[in-house]
Amino acid sequence: MPSPRRAPPTILVTNDDGYHAPGIRALARALGPLGDVFVVAPESEQSSTSHALTLSRPLRLRAQSPEVWSLDGTPADCTYVALHHKGLLPRPPDVVVSGINMGLNLGTDVFYSGTVAGAREAALRGVPAIAFSMPSQADARRCAARARTMVARLLAWRATNPKAAAPLLNVNFPDGPARGVRLCTLGTREYENLVEERRDPRGRQYLWIGGPSVAHRPNPGSDTEAHDQGYVSVTSLRLDLSLPEVHEAAKALAGRR
Ligand code: MN
Repeated sequence: MPSPRRAPPTILVTNDDGYHAPGIRALARALGPLGDVFVVAPESEQSSTSHALTLSRPLRLRAQSPEVWSLDGTPADCTYVALHHKGLLPRPPDVVVSGINMGLNLGTDVFYSGTVAGAREAALRGVPAIAFSMPSQADARRCAARARTMVARLLAWRATNPKAAAPLLNVNFPDGPARGVRLCTLGTREYENLVEERRDPRGRQYLWIGGPSVAHRPNPGSDTEAHDQGYVSVTSLRLDLSLPEVHEAAKALAGRR
């Protein structure tokens, strides 16, 4: 008796730069040979929106082509809608891929990143997920080709480990051709802390926050170090933020010594 034909892998692609961004277009195109690729991505740029969900206004989903939808929400909204809006995707995705972000998401950037959050929302729901970031738009095609190899390897791993906990992986491509791939911990990026005060044409004050990245702390084995040395960094992220040991301050505030 012939075994039932398996459906091709279903791949959901999202990002935080918007469905029209060069990074997501290159990524979706590159992943095409691996399976059925669907894009559900923000209608406009949502960088630095982290894991926000839009709960207080309606969301508009617009079909841009048979396999591409835009949503006027955040990356986490996009993954949520793609996973739970019945009939949107023909099957639940085997993997969710977010990016390729225009700009790095190294170290502590993962707290702010919408790219990482689009992937994290999938991993929280038990779907393996990868966030990809690149330093420059000019690298999109080369990075997308590398991303395809990595997604293919993850799908192969998943096929033989269907019951394992869904991983959340963060990948950053270096400037120019990579010297190799490193498995990393998260480093620390230091940004200039900037609050710029200006006046609008009506004379009212407004503030503009956020300065450029200025330094990477020297953390051996970190993604920031790998990036600075020209390597692709692959970092496994945990979904449980709690510390294994209870912090002394927690004991103190709970009234325990
Ligand atoms: Mn972005």
